[in-house]
Amino acid sequence: MDRMPIVDYLVLDEPPRLVAHECMACQARYFDRRNACAACGGTEFTRADVERDATLRSFTIVNVAAEGVPVPYVAAIVDCAGTTVPGLLVNTPPDPVHVRLGMKLRLTTFSIGADASGVDAVNYGFEPAAEGER
Ligand SMILES: [Zn+2]
Repeated sequence: MDRMPIVDYLVLDEPPRLVAHECMACQARYFDRRNACAACGGTEFTRADVERDATLRSFTIVNVAAEGVPVPYVAAIVDCAGTTVPGLLVNTPPDPVHVRLGMKLRLTTFSIGADASGVDAVNYGFEPAAEGER
């Protein structure tokens, strides 16, 4: 089945990875395309692979969402070796017992469904990293 990432900064290699726009002057990173760096005003960017291992920095457990969106789910901000990344926390129960600030995570991907031509749309998220794997 053909697969397509839902954001252009997700690269579906094995393993999958996120790729940021990195300011060549100050190394600030952005996931959207910028004309200029918000930190230093630089206008030259390069592409930089983002570390797949992450640490949970902030989260909220979402219990109310638009109709058709399954709840609860965990919206998170993670730190990938210095790069701040927003994403969903997946493959763990969405409750305060299982979701803890500072927990170790790893980038993963999951299907959000296929279109009529069979192309599978793929999103990214972060799942708990097993102890000892890092
Ligand atoms: Zn900059």
